[in-house]
Parts: sequence; structure tokens; C-alpha cells
Amino acid sequence: MLTSKYILFNQYFKTFMIKDLFSLMYPHTCALCNAGLARGEYMICTRCDFRLPKFRNCDESNSFLPLLSGAHLYSFLYAFIKYYKKGIGQKLLQKIKYDNKPDLAFFIGNRLGLEFIPPNPGFEMILPVPLHKKKLKKRGYNQADFFAKGISDSTGIKWSPDVICRIKNNPSQTNKSRMERIKNVEGIFNVEKIDLIISKKILVVDDVITTGATLLACSEVLEEAGAHVVGVASIALAKG
Ligand SMILES: [Zn+2]
Repeated sequence: MLTSKYILFNQYFKTFMIKDLFSLMYPHTCALCNAGLARGEYMICTRCDFRLPKFRNCDESNSFLPLLSGAHLYSFLYAFIKYYKKGIGQKLLQKIKYDNKPDLAFFIGNRLGLEFIPPNPGFEMILPVPLHKKKLKKRGYNQADFFAKGISDSTGIKWSPDVICRIKNNPSQTNKSRMERIKNVEGIFNVEKIDLIISKKILVVDDVITTGATLLACSEVLEEAGAHVVGVASIALAKG
């Protein structure tokens, strides 16, 4: 049986390896403030990292599970930051979404996997919430794909970008009430590869969770297709 010290050492070792890899692959400026990165800093400088409203651990993010309570019960909720409409948390999401920085989503996914998700976490596949093909063409990438890929990279659990398809290009969820959001996402997803997910325990991931309506719609089609959606993860979780 692995001791907690060994697991901790293993996680530090993996962090070291990943950081080393990032230092070779990415520019030496902070993705949030453009300051030069010091030795040992990767993607985000220490000052910006300190200012990010991060969850302390998975117990803290899990305590927000009741926010999502509704038609589907999840066993866990992993989120990296608490989302506020202003400040550095919003900047992080804007950079990921609109500033052509999918590598930042990968980096956050990687850290979430290392810092929050325990070994043998109880899910077998990571599925990102898909974008509609028109939006994907316009943006060039789906940030949730890169976030999922980052989690997969640090946990060793496989992910797939094309199990679920967004069949309707629904209007933005911004400025909608919880009920309007639930209606807005009804029937927008379809499961394309049922054989890959039957009886599988799934973690569904998205960039932001607000009311959870989008994740719920996604979870429902997956459950109808025979999967068990056991948890959700996001870069940011809107608090209350
Ligand atoms: Zn910075």
C-alpha cells in the first residue's frame, strides 16, 4: 500500500517533471501580466499565482456541491479558482477563452490533476463539454478540451473530445436566470460514441460552472446513453 509520504513525493516529482517540460515549451513571460518569469516559475508568475482566488483543496471545492444539486447528484466537484466577475480570475478565463491561450487551460488542468485529484479517483474517463462546430471554427479551439487534456496528462486517466456533440448553437448563458439557463440548454447535446462510455464512470469538465445547467444537460445525455457521471470539474466556479 502506498504511504501518503510516497504519494506526496510522487506528486512533487511529477510537478517537477511537468514544470521542466513547460519551461522548454513555453515563453518565459507570465500569461497574465507579461512580466518575465523567474527560475522555477511557469506560465504564471508567483505574484499573479498568489492573487488568483484559488480553492485551497478539493474538500473546499466539494463543499459547493449543493450549488449543483438538482436532477443529477454528483459525488465530487473539482474547481481551481472561485470566479468573480472582476479581477485576476476573470483575466485568467478571458486569456484562456479569447486570447488564443489554450496552453494556459492545459496548464491549469495539469495543476488541478496534481494538486486536487487523489490517486484512483473513481472515474475512468474525462469528457469536456463540446462547443458547437460554428463556435469552434471561429475560436479555433475548445478551451474545455485543453483543460481535460491537462487533467488527463497528470492523472493518467484518458479523455476524449468527440464522444459528445453539441447539435444546437444555443445563445450565451450570460444574464439568464437558472430556469432560463436550464431551458436554453435542453436538447443541445448528443452522444456520438455510445460504445466508448457504456457503464463507464465519467468526469465531465467545462471552463466555468455557474448554475451547472450546461453540465447537467451534458450529464443527462450521457446517463441516458448508459454512462455514470460521477463528478464535474472546472477551471472556475462561480460562487453564489
Ligand atoms: Zn504575472
